[in-house]
Amino acid sequence: MSAELPNDYDKAAVRARYEAERDKRLVPGRADILDLRHDERFARYLADPFTEMEDRDPVTDDTEVVIVGGGIGGLLAGVQLREHGVADIRIIDHAGGVGGTWYWNRYPGIMCDVESYIYMPMLEELGYIPKDRYATGGEILGHLQRIAERYDLERNALFHTGVTDATWLEDAGRWEVTTDRGDRFRSRYYVLAVGFLNLLKLPDIPGIDEFRGAAFHTARWDYDYTGGAPGEPLTKLDGKRVALIGTGATGIQCVKPLAEAAEQVYVVQRTPSAIGVRGNRPTDPGFGENLEPGWQQARMDNFELIMSGNPVEENLVDDAWTHHFALVSNPPREPGMSTKDFLRNAEELDFGIMEEHRGRVEDLVEDPETAEALKPWYRYRCKRPCFHDDFLPAFNLPNVDLVACPAGIERITEDGLVIEGIEYEVDCIVFGSGFEPEFTPLQRRVGQEVVGRDGVTLDQKWGDGPSSLFGMLSRGFPNLFVMPAPGQQAVITVNYTELAVLGAEFIGRTVEILRKGGVSVFDVSAEAESDWVQQILDAYVDATAFLSTCTPSRLNNEGNPEGMNPLTGSYGGGRGDFFAYRDLLREWLDAGDCEGLELEARPDTTGDDT
Ligand code: NAP
Repeated sequence: MSAELPNDYDKAAVRARYEAERDKRLVPGRADILDLRHDERFARYLADPFTEMEDRDPVTDDTEVVIVGGGIGGLLAGVQLREHGVADIRIIDHAGGVGGTWYWNRYPGIMCDVESYIYMPMLEELGYIPKDRYATGGEILGHLQRIAERYDLERNALFHTGVTDATWLEDAGRWEVTTDRGDRFRSRYYVLAVGFLNLLKLPDIPGIDEFRGAAFHTARWDYDYTGGAPGEPLTKLDGKRVALIGTGATGIQCVKPLAEAAEQVYVVQRTPSAIGVRGNRPTDPGFGENLEPGWQQARMDNFELIMSGNPVEENLVDDAWTHHFALVSNPPREPGMSTKDFLRNAEELDFGIMEEHRGRVEDLVEDPETAEALKPWYRYRCKRPCFHDDFLPAFNLPNVDLVACPAGIERITEDGLVIEGIEYEVDCIVFGSGFEPEFTPLQRRVGQEVVGRDGVTLDQKWGDGPSSLFGMLSRGFPNLFVMPAPGQQAVITVNYTELAVLGAEFIGRTVEILRKGGVSVFDVSAEAESDWVQQILDAYVDATAFLSTCTPSRLNNEGNPEGMNPLTGSYGGGRGDFFAYRDLLREWLDAGDCEGLELEARPDTTGDDT
C-alpha cells in the first residue's frame, strides 16, 4: 500500500500552512514542566495507586547482579542472566511489582500500538499466543508477570524501592547500593534498565495546585475516583465533568471509556495527532498452528527490516507502521535520481499520507468545525503517529467536546481550566500530558547518583552528552551495564522489545564470558570508548533543517532542534542501523575475547572489605 500521490497540490500553500500551525504552538513556556521528584506539593501524582506499600526491614547483603527496573528491559536482562548461569539476581523498582510502563499505565483503553506478536516478549518460551492483534495493557502486564514467575525474578526483588546512590567500591570490586528504604547492599554487576519514558510529566500551568477537584496523571489512574478497573466501565463518573489534557498516544485511548461514563468530557488538544487506522482483531484461531521455532524473532526482524527500508518477501505485520512510517522514513530513491527530485518525491509522499489522515478526520467527525480543528498540519514524522478507530468518532457524541488550545492552557482555577478566556468548570482533570522525552539524559532518567571510579559521577561524565562503548558500557563505571535506549549511542527501534531482546542477550552473554574467564572486574578501555564515540559522531545526520519545519514536539526538542546533541546519535546515523549493530555485538560476543575491555581477575572479595 502506498499513498496516492497528488501532484497537483499547491506545495507553497501547504508549507505555509504547516509553518503557520507550527508558529501558533511555538509559545514561550510550552515545554515547562513541574519537577515532580522535588516538589512536595505534587508528590501525590507519583504515588502508587495500585499496590499497598508494605513495611520491611532494610537489606544489607551482597548479591551478584542488581537490575534497576522491572519492566521489559530489566526482566529480559534477568532472564538472560539466569540462562547464562547467574543465580543471584535482585530487581529493584519504584513500582509495587514488575511490568515497568505496563505496571504504571493502567488507564482505561490502554493498548500497545505495536503488534502483540512482536511486542510481547518470549511468546515462544512461554507458549503464549496473544488474544488480539494489539494487546491491552492488562494482557501485557499479565504476560510480564508470568515471565518473572517462570524465571523466579521476584524472589530477591525490592519493590516500592528507589535507589538513591550506587557507588563503585574499588577495593571490594563491588557496587554499593543505597535506597530510600534504608537498604545498603553490594553487588558485583549493576544493570540500569530504567526505561526511557519513565518520568511522567505534569505541565507547569499557572494555578495547577489550586484545583479543588480530582486530578491525576494517566500513568497513575485513580480508579478509586472514577470507579471501574482497566477494561471495565468507569462506574463512578455518572454526572461528572472531566477534562482530559493531551491527545497523544495515551490521551486518544482514554476518550471513549471516559465518554461512556461521564456526563461531559472536554478533550483539551494542543496539537492534533495524525491518527491512522487501528484495525484490531482477535487472533486467528489458526495463528499458532503453523508457527516454526524462531518465528517470533523472524517476525520482529521482518518488521524492523521494513522499518529500516530493506526489502522483504512478505510484510508479516502489515500495519500502518510498515506502510506509512516505513515509507516516510525511507523514501524511495531511484537510481540516478537527483537530491532535488528525491526530496520533492519524499515531500509528495508525505503530503499524500497526511491528506489521508486529514481525510479520515473529515470522514469520521460530523461537525465540520471540530473536524477542522482535529486535522494534523505537519509532516508525518514530525510527531509520533497514533492509531485508533474510536477516538475520532467519539466527537460525534453529545457529551464530548474538543477544546483546541494551540497556544496551551492559560491557567487552572479552583474549578477548572481557562482556555482563550473561557473557563471550563470540571470535577476532574486527567493529565494525559505524557513523559519526559526519550532523549532525557540517562543520568536524569536513573534518578540516582551513580558514582564510578575516583568519585566521578555519571552526571559529571555524561554532562556534555553520552560517552559509551556500544551504548551500554562506559569507562570509569566498572561492571556496569545500561540497557540500550534512544539517545544513548545505541540504536532506536519502533518495536522497543526487539532492542531489549538484544541488550539482554549482550548482558547475559558478556557476564557468562567474564565468569568463565575468571574476570571479576571489567572496565572499558579509553581507546575503545573514544573509537565508539567517534563512530557515532561520524555517522550523525544533522536533521535540524527538517526538524525546524516541524510543529514543536519532543522529537524536535519542542521546537529547538538546534539544541540536539550529536553525542546522542545512534550507531549508523539517524535512528541507527539495528542489524549492523546486532551483527557487531554478536561478532564481539562470539569472539569471546572482550576486545575493548580492561579485565581484572581478583581473589573473590564477597562483601568483606571496603
Ligand atoms: P505525548 O505523546 O507526549 O502526548 C502528551 C500530550 O499532552 C500531547 O497531546 C501534548 O500536546 C499534551 N500536552 C503536554 N503538555 C501540555 C500543556 N502544557 N498544555 C496542553 N497540552 C499539553 O505523551 P503520551 O500520549 O503519553 O505518549 C508518550 C509515548 O508513550 C508515545 O509516544 C509512545 O511512545 C508511548 N505510548 C504508546 C502507546 C501505545 O502504544 N498505544 C500508548 C501511550 C503511550 P502537544 O502535542 O502539543 O505537545
